[in-house]
Amino acid sequence: MSAVSSTFNFFKSFLLLELVKGLALTGRHFFARNITVQFPEEKTPLSPRFRGLHALRRYENGEERCIACKLCEAVCPAMAITIESDVRADGSRRTTRYDIDLTKCIFCGFCEESCPVDSIVETNIFEYHGEKRGDLYFTKDMLLAVGDKFEPQIAAQKEADAKYR
Ligand code: SF4
Ligand code: SF4
Repeated sequence: MSAVSSTFNFFKSFLLLELVKGLALTGRHFFARNITVQFPEEKTPLSPRFRGLHALRRYENGEERCIACKLCEAVCPAMAITIESDVRADGSRRTTRYDIDLTKCIFCGFCEESCPVDSIVETNIFEYHGEKRGDLYFTKDMLLAVGDKFEPQIAAQKEADAKYR
């Protein structure tokens, strides 16, 4: 180390420059606007592409959208979706079982991307939890119930995102 830099370092330590710089930073933030969000009373904005709780949707006439093509099951990298299907009396194919194990799901959104009829979607709901084993294993009825309850919200999300697709 040269004599010049040793002298410089000596005066830097002697004058507590690092400490003064640290205090200046603290001072700047002390008077800055408070950005802490008081969750859950306050919430930050969410993108229409936010990937939260899954839902199965229906058409306006109440008919479920899913046609049991199993594309979502095939594309799911976490193998979290299990589908079984059958042909109904009217000749249409529908699922008899549609389960998503949310403890396996990595919320990649591939299932939603792959669905040809906008049936399986990821809503912007993130305030849900499970308290015991199996609580996050969502069956078809549970997924349809989420879809039924939040359809206006899901439709608005889809519409907001449509122009970017
Ligand atoms: S979000 Fe991804 S990991 Fe989760 S169920 Fe859909 S495809 Fe599978
Ligand atoms: S949710 Fe969509 S992709 Fe999955 S089986 Fe039903 S129609 Fe096919």
